[in-house]
Amino acid sequence: MGMVQSMGLQADYGNILMHLRSRFDAGRLRRARVLRPFLRIPAKVAAGVLGEARVFVGILEDLPYETNRILPGSNPLEPPRIVYGVAPELAQRRHRFRNAIREMFRGRRFFFLNDDIELNYGHACGTARFGRDPRDSVLDADCRVHGLRNLYVADASFMPSSTGVNPGLIILANSLRVADRIVAAR
Ligand SMILES: Cc1cc2nc3c(=O)[nH]c(=O)nc-3n(C[C@H](O)[C@H](O)[C@H](O)COP(=O)(O)OP(=O)(O)OC[C@H]3O[C@@H](n4cnc5c(N)ncnc54)[C@H](O)[C@@H]3O)c2cc1C
Repeated sequence: MGMVQSMGLQADYGNILMHLRSRFDAGRLRRARVLRPFLRIPAKVAAGVLGEARVFVGILEDLPYETNRILPGSNPLEPPRIVYGVAPELAQRRHRFRNAIREMFRGRRFFFLNDDIELNYGHACGTARFGRDPRDSVLDADCRVHGLRNLYVADASFMPSSTGVNPGLIILANSLRVADRIVAAR
């Protein structure tokens, strides 16, 4: 399912204004720059209403759907293109995740659930995923490249899917495991 990241960011004026500005800049009104400074008004009102409210973020595991890809630019000077869509399975899981949160907080606190999916590339992985079958994985179970004796990969790329939790410690633990496998294979 993933997890709720306990950042507990305060829903204060600055954070609300930042959020409203990012919505504004991504929305259809973005060309009406003259309106942008007026976002301070709803931000001020919302900060007053929300008081000591905190913001938490739900992170869900994302699976390696074939339709989601990083494609090269049409020429070497163009940056790669990210093609991403929310798979029906992910949308369903997200629905269950939200229901579980709603159930947990029922009758306890006043809270809002934001409907937006915020894409975040901070936990990128899976570009050299491990697996048993060379037809659908780059690395074997020891993170050694299939068919090569002396090439190992031990960064975040080995993970077959984004786990829905912070991956740092998993990456470190796996690299220690792989180091042991390299020593054992010598
Ligand atoms: C904003 C942000 C916040 C995050 N917060 C957390 C968190 O709180 N907890 C957590 O667990 N994870 C967090 N992550 C995720 C975590 O940082 C990454 O998953 C992890 O660092 C990936 O490790 P890595 O070794 O695969 O890659 P990296 O840490 O990115 O290391 C890759 C290294 O390779 C070098 N490199 C790249 N290309 C080349 C090249 N061609 N030649 C030589 N060197 C090269 C880069 O300079 C870099 O030093 C966060 C990520 C971001 C972006």
